[in-house]
Amino acid sequence: MGGSTKLNAVKMLKINKLTSLTSLKQEMGGIIIIDPQGIILSVNEIFCAKSGYLPGEIIGRNLCQLETKGFTGIFFRILLRYLQETERWQGEIWIPHKKGSLCRYWVTVSALKDVKGETIQFTVILKQKSGQHFPGRKSSSVSNYDCLTGLPNRLFFHEHLQAVLKTRKNPDIAVLFLDLDRLKTINDTLGYGIGDLILQLVAKRLVRNVPEGSTVARMGGDEFIILLEKVAGTTDAVNVAQKLLKELATPFNNKGQELFISASIGITLFPTGGSDPENLIKNAETAMDRVKQRGRNRYQVYMPAMNAMALENLKLSTDLRRALERDEFLLHYQPQIDMDTGSVIGIETLLRWQHPDLGLIYPDGFISIAEETGLIIPIGEWVLRAAVSQNKAWQDSGLPRVPIAVNISARQFQQQNLPGTIASILKGNGLRPECLELEITETVTMQDTEYTIETFRRLKEMRIPISIDDFGTGYCSLTYLRKYPFNKLKIDKTFIRDIDNSRHENAILKAIIGLGHSLDLKVIAEGVETSEQMELLHRYGCNGVQGYLFGKPMPAEELARILKN
Ligand code: C2E
Ligand code: MG
Ligand code: MG
Repeated sequence: MGGSTKLNAVKMLKINKLTSLTSLKQEMGGIIIIDPQGIILSVNEIFCAKSGYLPGEIIGRNLCQLETKGFTGIFFRILLRYLQETERWQGEIWIPHKKGSLCRYWVTVSALKDVKGETIQFTVILKQKSGQHFPGRKSSSVSNYDCLTGLPNRLFFHEHLQAVLKTRKNPDIAVLFLDLDRLKTINDTLGYGIGDLILQLVAKRLVRNVPEGSTVARMGGDEFIILLEKVAGTTDAVNVAQKLLKELATPFNNKGQELFISASIGITLFPTGGSDPENLIKNAETAMDRVKQRGRNRYQVYMPAMNAMALENLKLSTDLRRALERDEFLLHYQPQIDMDTGSVIGIETLLRWQHPDLGLIYPDGFISIAEETGLIIPIGEWVLRAAVSQNKAWQDSGLPRVPIAVNISARQFQQQNLPGTIASILKGNGLRPECLELEITETVTMQDTEYTIETFRRLKEMRIPISIDDFGTGYCSLTYLRKYPFNKLKIDKTFIRDIDNSRHENAILKAIIGLGHSLDLKVIAEGVETSEQMELLHRYGCNGVQGYLFGKPMPAEELARILKN
């Protein structure tokens, strides 16, 4: 705040002492006078008695920076912006006591304006809760902010958005709906304490990285909502979304343990994405759902056609429930080729869904729904059973013995007794354990819990080879690569795609292959489509290749023909 503004505010305060303060005193509540930036200019005795602060300790500090476990400061910062649109706000919030605890108050904040209509200060009147109710309103229905993160809640956000839309003729605003990816898995594996901590850390990171004048609120669960003001168009909103995704990609540190999280963001712009709070929020959520289906950790701008797609999606999850009973799943197989000999060294199983109306659907279109609904457990078991039985059938017909790889999603890996299920499937079909391979992604290793360690230990004991899939796209730390019993490292296809045009990518590729070998892992490259890519991979010492150059995923009969040659 500039010196002269401060002086003005102090002058105003003197006048105020004679006028508003005397009348406010009669309300017998705690009173804080702050300037438009939140700097505390004055407090009354009642506030001091209730909060434990002496006037000298608190005057001059910023109310928005009084941070405690509940982050009340964040809420205040946003509240002050809200008050630029309206003049008065009432609600229930928590204010920190000097000793760190939070006290719950019924708060009235009023703006004092000068003759030009500029806000010069705010009066904050605090009344401590007596009995169960605040005057006139039920306490359960008045809470305006979220206790865990200190952010405004859905109710406040809605009111604020409405005020912004009402008070400005052509508000240039965007709404971002942000949903954390896989928080449920974190809660299930690392516990709710860590889940809550992540929510608090994410809240802080979001507030720190949105442009001045934005409002960040928690909708509930793992959902946040952001109001951006003065956006010049879609590009502005997209830039913010990209920045937030990038910022969230840096792991959080909890006493030395790294915690990873990503998010999916849906964006709506006023008025194309909705002209009232309900529609802006609903459509941003629809766009966010699209991101989830397409594989998370991305953003999506809302388009009107999506509402139809959302309905379709709802139908899809209902249909998915019946797909197993109706026997609509099928498997395709893709060979992995030895770089030196050209022989088949592995076969990857890839799931497809033959939908009665929509035709053949690829995993990207339904795996995330299956994960969210938990259907991935029975579906995954079906895949394991079908792949094992297919490999046994190939072997029984005299074809060479080659391991068959099955993709196991993170949720599936956490299921009760996965090793037991696999053991019984192998036994039931009479297939040796080394003829099955599990492909897991880096997400699984991030869930570094006793349960994960125990599952890996049992699988190793059973002598089932494990590959790390899509390597380079997640956050697999080297510690985990060493710690868990992997046999193969599969380089993600994005690294292969960029081979021809990026020397930088080539250097990364070379380093990944070297890393794999130094850890005694066989290295396989996915998505090999051209002979140039293959030659380079050969030069770098990659052990195997998989991709359209050698064969697209194909039905069992076709793969049998390849195995024969
Ligand atoms: P993934 O395990 O990384 O599988 C490789 C994907 O790359 C497959 O896509 C495959 O068709 C594709 N691909 C292979 N060669 C090439 C190539 O040369 N160029 C390009 N552009 N793509 C290539 P698909 O079949 O759509 O599967 C996508 C993902 O779905 C898989 O990625 C896997 O993570 C998941 N998935 C597939 N089947 C299952 C399953 O049974 N269970 C689970 N949990 N996930 C599965
Ligand atoms: Mg795979
Ligand atoms: Mg892969």
